Amino acid sequence: MTLKIGVIGTGAIGADHTRRITNTLTGAEVIALTDVNQEQAEKVKQSLGLNATVYKDGHELIEKSGVDAVLVTSWGGTHEEYVLAAIKAGKYVFCEKPLATTAQGCQNIVDAEMAAGKRLVQVGFMRPYDSGYKMLKEAIDSGAIGEPLMIHAAHRNPSVPEMYITPMAIHDTLIHELDVFRWLLDDEYVSAQVVFPRKSKYAHDKVADPQIVMLETKKGTRIDVEVFVNCQYGYDIQCSVVGEEGVVNLPEPQALSMRKNANLGQSILTDWKDRFIESYDVELQDFVNGVQAGKLTGPSSWNGLAAAVSGDACVKAQESGLIEPINLPDRPEFYR
Ligand code: NAP
Repeated sequence: MTLKIGVIGTGAIGADHTRRITNTLTGAEVIALTDVNQEQAEKVKQSLGLNATVYKDGHELIEKSGVDAVLVTSWGGTHEEYVLAAIKAGKYVFCEKPLATTAQGCQNIVDAEMAAGKRLVQVGFMRPYDSGYKMLKEAIDSGAIGEPLMIHAAHRNPSVPEMYITPMAIHDTLIHELDVFRWLLDDEYVSAQVVFPRKSKYAHDKVADPQIVMLETKKGTRIDVEVFVNCQYGYDIQCSVVGEEGVVNLPEPQALSMRKNANLGQSILTDWKDRFIESYDVELQDFVNGVQAGKLTGPSSWNGLAAAVSGDACVKAQESGLIEPINLPDRPEFYR
């Protein structure tokens, strides 16, 4: 049976997910859309030729009996409210990161989902679905490099708009690393520190850029992540895991290498949508399949909470300049 999906928020990623459900994935169709800007929802509906209804707001869409599952791709500040409403309606919900903008908001969702008695929420952390990160995970789990001791990583964007301010480097950018390193290492963070190198001339007044975030895990693995959101040259994600017996590196995205004019070159992507296009496809197909099977296995509300708690400690570390503790509560059996 085709899963009937309603999409709340038809901006950049909402429109992209609607396109992939319509043109790329199997087993689902978008039958309902909403956006604060209804014209935007209409535009997406028309551009994809959808047989869908545009609703006035997210709550109306969630309550419609024909909508089997909900995608929350609106502005982050609205996620908690819509996810809680979907859980209340007993509907499966895929929520883009962040699950909620506060750790308490994530905890409210965890509590509501546990009270509902089954997993209904998948969070849009797509890196565990990326083939490169999967290869890293397999190498670590196989013991090929011995115990992991360190991770050196970088998250670089070409540029960011004026509205991007220093804490967003954590909550909007680093959040993907915060999720994927826990998964790669099967470990939890215990502390965070943030240091600021010399500021790039391309960074506007309200963002300290670049930043280096240093994390320590329970097992003692040390992680350093460069977050550099005005690097100019491209969208570049790097990850190198150093083990006792070897090093594994995240593969570069496939690109043609060209020899020309006494030069050997390879192009670098500039758009996050292109870098992770396949992982977005795989993560959303996994959600559709999970709903069809009545069992979600992708990133859970607990992952959303862990990222929020760790992110808050990183922001505190940005402000204090100190090593800040990360205190994640024990993971309930429900999320094991
Ligand atoms: P965007 O382009 O600004 O789209 C958000 C859309 O939601 C806008 O059309 C906005 O309308 C609409 N909206 C805001 N409040 C709403 C509400 N109460 N009800 C319905 N619609 C509402 O942003 P985006 O880049 O798509 O990001 C959306 C979410 O996805 C964010 O949480 C972001 O962090 C996340 N995201 C995740 C990834 C990833 O890699 N997983 C990548 C990109 C984005 P207005 O523009 O009129 O306010």
